[in-house]
Amino acid sequence: MTARATVGDFEITLVRAGFYWWDGGAMFGVVPKTLWSKRFETDEANRVRLGFNCYLVRTAEHGILIETGAGDKPDHKARERMKLPETAPGLPEILAEQGIDPESIDIVINTHLHFDHCGGNTFLAGSGARPAFPRARYYTRRGEWEHAHERHVRDRISYIDANYDPLVENGQMHLLDADLEVAPGIEMRLAPGHNRDMMVVTAASAGQTFCFFSDLIPTTAHVTPSWVAAFDLYPLQTIDTKRRWLEDAVRGQWLCGFGHDPDVAFACIKKTGQSFMAASCAELDIAHTTTPVLP
Ligand SMILES: [Zn+2]
Repeated sequence: MTARATVGDFEITLVRAGFYWWDGGAMFGVVPKTLWSKRFETDEANRVRLGFNCYLVRTAEHGILIETGAGDKPDHKARERMKLPETAPGLPEILAEQGIDPESIDIVINTHLHFDHCGGNTFLAGSGARPAFPRARYYTRRGEWEHAHERHVRDRISYIDANYDPLVENGQMHLLDADLEVAPGIEMRLAPGHNRDMMVVTAASAGQTFCFFSDLIPTTAHVTPSWVAAFDLYPLQTIDTKRRWLEDAVRGQWLCGFGHDPDVAFACIKKTGQSFMAASCAELDIAHTTTPVLP
């Protein structure tokens, strides 16, 4: 099941590019399993089920796709590890199944270049990778692209060049040196912690705001600032960045989306004392209309 929401004049749709399974300990870092296992069930290999969450923001002029999932490049071993099917439909097909014309996508945003966020940018064909959205401009941050090519032993496994280099070479991918309003009301803004150059995306219209937190807050369980994934490169910075953005989300009554939550499409943020929690917007009396959509 997916879901749709209205934010001012924008329509926001969750497009889940599949589910995958990942080590629960890695997802929750220093948080003991006795705590996180109350929120997530594990399988026999201690993995938890997660989603590749992409969001489509539809404005009067633009179809903006945020993230593109893992795509077709993970090899057999990686697919086995994540319990991914050997062959999965491409993102254009997934969009079409949900009644979204893939041709209508004219902007693609990658918050960062880990394979699970940009894998559907391109698809393998013959000897190379071709753009999945030929008429779109793609955006990510230059520092992230440069870091991807450093191939640091800590995180090189997260980068697959075929997801972005063909688009940089053909001029379709724009590498940002600063925050940018990619279309009226849609902003990409630096939010370091998960890594140095990750960006979050806000879509603001007529006094309402949607925010996609990507891996700054990968699931609603990670709304608690100290719940930080083990693979974040700068965990203390994650906590600071997260707190700042959560304050804004509370103040602005934002509708929020998360990089990998397997169940929740949209939530609002509640602050009690110094702690933050995800809550349904209706419960907080915040007037966002969200509708579940059957695929
Ligand atoms: Zn991710």
